[in-house]
Amino acid sequence: MTTTLPEPTHELDAMLHHNSLDGSNPGLAESLRRPLLRAAVATGTCTRLDPSTFRDADPFFRAEGESTESWHSRRQDTIKSLCRSCPVAAACEELTLRDRNYDGVRGGLTEDELRSRARQQSKRLTAARTADTHLANQEEEILRAYRHLNRACAVNSDRYKASAPKRMAAVAAARSNVHRLRTARRQENGWAAA
Ligand code: SF4
Repeated sequence: MTTTLPEPTHELDAMLHHNSLDGSNPGLAESLRRPLLRAAVATGTCTRLDPSTFRDADPFFRAEGESTESWHSRRQDTIKSLCRSCPVAAACEELTLRDRNYDGVRGGLTEDELRSRARQQSKRLTAARTADTHLANQEEEILRAYRHLNRACAVNSDRYKASAPKRMAAVAAARSNVHRLRTARRQENGWAAA
């Protein structure tokens, strides 16, 4: 089944709607990586729902033991009443595809539609997931460098008084490492050096 994307109502939707993420503009794809997608999806329509209004059955997931007919009917209601008017539907779809999170309704699409999109866009998604992993590794490396710097700064000064120059050198090296990693990340993302 072919699903037409809703008219763009958000910057991210517009970018996806106009195929800006088809791989022809790697700089743009870089700028729309996981953190931004997550931030956008955190503002989605479903995040503002009152859970008490769907205590019987979550509108986004099939209930245990629910018949196929009932679930298909309910999920179409969810898509129509919530996702189609959601301002971040395209970002939601993109994040879902990157995460391979195909259960339930996401981004205004059913499980089958999400899997079909994933197959159609497998090449692009592989590249996107590689970029996500690279970013996560980079963040982790910077965090490790900060922890190392904190430890170097926190060394008890009395105990190590005799080796103060050595400690100062260790702090300077740790600080320089943080700066190098942050600068590399910023330059990679097209920002000026920190
Ligand atoms: S598109 Fe649907 S599932 Fe995604 S954030 Fe919006 S309301 Fe929630």
